[in-house]
Amino acid sequence: MAQEVRDRGIVLGTVDYGESDRIVTLLTRDHGKVGAFARGARASRRRFAGALLPFTVLEVRLVSRRGELFGLSSCTIEESFPGLRESLEAISLAGYAAELCRELCKEREPHPELFERLRAYLAALAAGEAGEAQRMAFELGAVADAGLMPRLDACARCGAGVSQARACFDPVAGGLLCARCEPFASGQRVRLGPAALELLREAQSAVFELGDRAPGVRLAVREPVPGEPRVEARREARQAVRRYLRHVLGKELRSLEVLRQVGLEG
Ligand SMILES: [Zn+2]
Repeated sequence: MAQEVRDRGIVLGTVDYGESDRIVTLLTRDHGKVGAFARGARASRRRFAGALLPFTVLEVRLVSRRGELFGLSSCTIEESFPGLRESLEAISLAGYAAELCRELCKEREPHPELFERLRAYLAALAAGEAGEAQRMAFELGAVADAGLMPRLDACARCGAGVSQARACFDPVAGGLLCARCEPFASGQRVRLGPAALELLREAQSAVFELGDRAPGVRLAVREPVPGEPRVEARREARQAVRRYLRHVLGKELRSLEVLRQVGLEG
């Protein structure tokens, strides 16, 4: 008899299959990103009763099947974040975060900290408490969870200290480059002033309050005071993150176009 496992998972997306079934992509806590075959999910509304909407946190029972997909035998909703669906910005950022997780993870490679991070970020978005600082903290945390953290404390090529007035961030090299290594920088490099570098370092060291099963998990990230003269710094830091993600993913995320349409991406 096929073995059943229990886990928790966040719905990253679904595709219809045939006339009555659906395939759900889940970021599970203990089994990583998995595809699960939800038999009858389209034909019967009661079968999974609204549980398979994107961004819903579920308790799931999964059954191993032949091939890559699990079977989804049952699920219950743990959190559905109704607040996400009340804001175009929030739902656009949720879609972006889900796509980022989907692209960063290989199938069935567990990243429990990424599961908790995504859940915390979705909770913050749903509560209207996630701005640009939280987004950047999520992005840099997610790449770190996937083992792809950019180096911002020293030169990514030789380990020396970085002392230029305008630091050189090279996505291809994997982080900052010192003055001696700068001539080796790729065409993807971004110049970062001290304020932009500080923003990135703050985002990278942001503390996520993870592992708490109570609803309302939050990201402990300081959002810059409105009106702080950091517009240029934010633009530089955003460009560095955008280019870094494009480099490590090998492509641009499709949801960036949605973010552009709602004015959240330059
Ligand atoms: Zn160097």
